[in-house]
Amino acid sequence: MIDGDRLLAGLRTLRGFGAEGTGVVRPTFSDPDMRARRWLRDEMVAAGLTARIDGVGNVVGTSPNHGPALLIGSHSDTQPTGGWLDGALGVVYALEIARALLERPDTSHLAIDPVAWSDEEGTYTSCLGSRSFAGRLTDDALTDRNASGESVAEAIERVGLAGVERARLDPARHVGYVEAHIEQGPRLEDSGDLIGVVTSIVGIRAVRVTVSGEQNHAGTTPMHRRADAGVVLFEFGHRVQQRLAKVAGPATVWTIGRAALAPGAESIIPGVASCTLQFRDPDDERLQVMEASIVELAAELSGRGPCTVSVERRRAPIPPTVMDPSLREHLRAAAEAHAPGRWAEMASAAGHDAMELAHVLPCAMVFIPSIGGVSHAFAEDSHPTDIVRGAEVLADATLRILTDGHLTRTPAG
Ligand SMILES: [Zn+2]
Repeated sequence: MIDGDRLLAGLRTLRGFGAEGTGVVRPTFSDPDMRARRWLRDEMVAAGLTARIDGVGNVVGTSPNHGPALLIGSHSDTQPTGGWLDGALGVVYALEIARALLERPDTSHLAIDPVAWSDEEGTYTSCLGSRSFAGRLTDDALTDRNASGESVAEAIERVGLAGVERARLDPARHVGYVEAHIEQGPRLEDSGDLIGVVTSIVGIRAVRVTVSGEQNHAGTTPMHRRADAGVVLFEFGHRVQQRLAKVAGPATVWTIGRAALAPGAESIIPGVASCTLQFRDPDDERLQVMEASIVELAAELSGRGPCTVSVERRRAPIPPTVMDPSLREHLRAAAEAHAPGRWAEMASAAGHDAMELAHVLPCAMVFIPSIGGVSHAFAEDSHPTDIVRGAEVLADATLRILTDGHLTRTPAG
């Protein structure tokens, strides 16, 4: 249904914007990012769509056909040192599917609106573009800053988008959103499956654990007189591994990504020690149990003394996002048609723009295998045959969705 060579050529062209070795450096609102967005806009126009870059940098294509329209897309920005397929894959799929279906006489009446979201990766603020499109962007997000201290609003001004209208979901037109993405993990490769149909996007919670002891001289303070915050933090780190393993499901992950001893000197007993602990799972109840278990361990260590251990949430919990059952059904049918017996249903362990869109529109996602499960790295890659197959599956699912006749406009929640 689609043109595999044209698809791969498009991906390689997009890779050229910000290419560094095998990787890509194309953070949001950088020069390569804006050049890539202008290229995408021009490609959409050449494909027969109307297209524009909106007030937050989204590239939004609109089919000349009347709705119901299916939104297809992903993000075209990258991590500070990113791979060439993360986001780009889903964006070029959307472009190719919109173009291919318009070209074919039997599908040229269908409406596909391709989109490349802005700043999914959170160079300034995560999922900037999809939040804006879904009407969920608050004004305070525009004051969020990148690592050099530039705010979203300042960046929008710098790239010439100040005053440009932001694109918004059209409830009378858009009936759903589908996003293809590389898996970014090893599960498909390990199982030998070729396509992943996403059931839900995991929820994320994160806490900060702070141990308070007593700062003192590392030479003159006898061991029995110490309240060493560092020692208790290490014990917490070890015991939390065992506790969480007891309540973990197959998709549960947790990470102590950051730890610090204060004041952090060789000859000082740490007075304060802290760490972050992030945990993810597709099941919100399990996330609650995990959080309770962490709090319980902290209370236990605190009660024992002499240090106190406190736990506070680092951010509002992000609940799991369930993908729309009827869109998923179409993806399953398309996966079975193009990879019979070699596709799997799976949760997404990474966050995606679909999380934002799911608040206002039925959403579904499809994954293709990542070589070695590597992503957010220059080594990120996928086999060309897998890339083309994924686009075929999504194109097939698009046809099934748009000719279903039971299109629902109820949000997946
Ligand atoms: Zn991504």
